[in-house]
Amino acid sequence: MIGENYRRVLANIAGAVERRKNRGIETGPVTLVAVTKNHDVEAMRQCIDTGASVVGENRVQEAKGKFEALDRSVIWHLIGHLQTNKVNQAVAMFDLIHSVDSERLLLAIDNAAGKIGKVQDVLIQVNLAREPQKYGAAEEEQTDVLKKADHLPNVHLHGLMLIAPNYENVEETRPLFRKMKELYQKVQDMDLPASDIEYLSMGMTNDYVIAVEEGANLVRVGTGIFGPRQY
Ligand SMILES: *Cc1c(COP(=O)(O)O)cnc(C)c1O
Repeated sequence: MIGENYRRVLANIAGAVERRKNRGIETGPVTLVAVTKNHDVEAMRQCIDTGASVVGENRVQEAKGKFEALDRSVIWHLIGHLQTNKVNQAVAMFDLIHSVDSERLLLAIDNAAGKIGKVQDVLIQVNLAREPQKYGAAEEEQTDVLKKADHLPNVHLHGLMLIAPNYENVEETRPLFRKMKELYQKVQDMDLPASDIEYLSMGMTNDYVIAVEEGANLVRVGTGIFGPRQY
C-alpha cells in the first residue's frame, strides 16, 4: 500500500515535470520528501524500502524517538516550526531545516551548529499569503534574513520554502506558487556568494502536482503516501 502510493506520487510528479517543461519552466529534478509525521517507524521502513531517501518530520520531539529507533539510513528534513529551545536537538538530527522564519532562529541555529562543528543546511520559509496564523518571514524581512544567512559561518542557505493556505479550490494556489517561483528567481539573482539557491520547497498532498507544474523542486507529501494521520 505505502509502496504503491509512493510510486504513484512519483509518477504524478514526473507527469507534472513533463507539463512544466512544455511551458519552458525548468528548475531541475524534483525531490520527494516523504512526510512521516504521526506515522511509526514501521511505516517509515516500508517507505524507505520502496525507494524513499528523504523523510520529513515536523516536530523535533517525535522525530528524535524515530531517529533513534530507525534502522535505516535516510536523509532527515525538518519541515515544521522550530522553537529556539529545540534548536540544539534539531541541529543534531536534521540534514536540512526548511522552516527558518526569523533572524532570531537563524542565529540560534548558527550558534548550535557551531558548537558541534556542523554547517547546517537551511531554507528560509516565506509567508507569501500574509496569513497571520502562519509562520514565515514577511516580504520586508526576507532580504535581511537571506543576507544574514549568507554571512553566518555555520549555516548554508539553499533556498526557500512555502506552506500554501488550504484553499477550498486547489487551483487558487497556482498564482501563489507562481509568485513564489518569481521570488525564488529574484533570490537566485541576489548577491549571496556563500549560498546555493537550488531548492524551492512547496507542495503537499493536496497541491503538489500544481506546485511542481509551477516550478517546485522539493515537495512534501504525507497523506498521499501513508494515508490519513491518526491524531
Ligand atoms: C504535514 C506537512 C506536510 C504534508 O502534508 P500532507 O497533506 O499530509 O501531504 C507538508 N509540509 C508541512 C510543513 C507539513 O507540516
